[in-house]
Amino acid sequence: MKKEFKTRMTSPSRRDFIRKSSLVGVAATLGTAPRVVGAVTAPQKPKSVGPIVISSRNGSDSVLKAMEIIQSGADALDAVVAGVNLVEEDPNDTSVGYGGLPNADGIVQLDAAVMHGPTGRAGSVACIEGIKYPSKIAQLVLERTDHVNLVGKGAQEFAVMHGYPVENLLTEKARKLWVRWRETLSSKDEYLPPHDPSEKDIGSLYDPVKRHWGTIHCSAIDLAGNISSVTTTSGLAFKIPGRVGDSPIIGAGLYCDNEVGAAGSTGRGEANLENLASFLIVERMREGDTPEAACLYACQRIADHTRVGHLLDDNGRPNFNVQFYALNAQGEVGGAEIWGGKGKFAAANADGGFLVDLAALYTR
Ligand code: ASP
Repeated sequence: MKKEFKTRMTSPSRRDFIRKSSLVGVAATLGTAPRVVGAVTAPQKPKSVGPIVISSRNGSDSVLKAMEIIQSGADALDAVVAGVNLVEEDPNDTSVGYGGLPNADGIVQLDAAVMHGPTGRAGSVACIEGIKYPSKIAQLVLERTDHVNLVGKGAQEFAVMHGYPVENLLTEKARKLWVRWRETLSSKDEYLPPHDPSEKDIGSLYDPVKRHWGTIHCSAIDLAGNISSVTTTSGLAFKIPGRVGDSPIIGAGLYCDNEVGAAGSTGRGEANLENLASFLIVERMREGDTPEAACLYACQRIADHTRVGHLLDDNGRPNFNVQFYALNAQGEVGGAEIWGGKGKFAAANADGGFLVDLAALYTR
């Protein structure tokens, strides 16, 4: 499966096609007549052009998996959840599911959300511990409860009720990174990183371990033209216990409207939470923006709303990054990030996987 994707990724003609296309996008790839984006008006029955799957860059296998499932006739929601499960169970991905970096106390707390276009329903879990596949639990919240969001212990108990085991999600790799973060956090506390007993200034020996973000978002249009989305993450590494990021918040980490399209995010969740960017992107597409233009609009909105000193660079621009990924009901795809120039995201259609350039609000 990986091989097939790599072939696609390195195909210059595919990359060029995606970069150069604006209105017709993937619809043209699929041999369907291009539609005018601005023609999307009143709510209608699904008229989406599929199948198509998009995800953040870490989902190159996920988009292929989701597409395979869609080709078998499955609903887009089942497909995107199965796709991101590959990353949730991957011990080497330190930003999602099993193997994700823990909170400041060394406990892995996961966030995930799903949204199902045909029913307009959503489900999510936040700060869930010990459950390897939070996206599956978010889907269960959607399908087997009359709620939208379950958090913490309640979310875990709900998962156990449905037969999911509570497991230790902290891998040795993640534990060691957490210990190193703790020991290099301050040279004025009692935690000491490895050092020579003769060393007088232990703190100056090490660069602090930087906290980092990471998440997978995946959206798809299935053979019936229905749209669904999922976002799943271990969130900000070494976060304050109990911190909820943007990923499990409907409208922030993802949003999906069967008549219009879907959007999702990765990056600094707090900025997205304060701007509900995924909802904003879908609404911009409803008004006629292409997916890429809508994602850039959301980046600009965040930049405009970032006003506190510690989040601004010397030129008054955000000193953090956020990425957005979107598709519309016409099958066009696009994405953008605040800081970039070289970023890409993963996608797959009936012909296989490929990469798409992320537009950038600012480049260095
Ligand atoms: N958006 C996620 C969060 O803030 C993290 C990420 O995507 O890197 O929890």
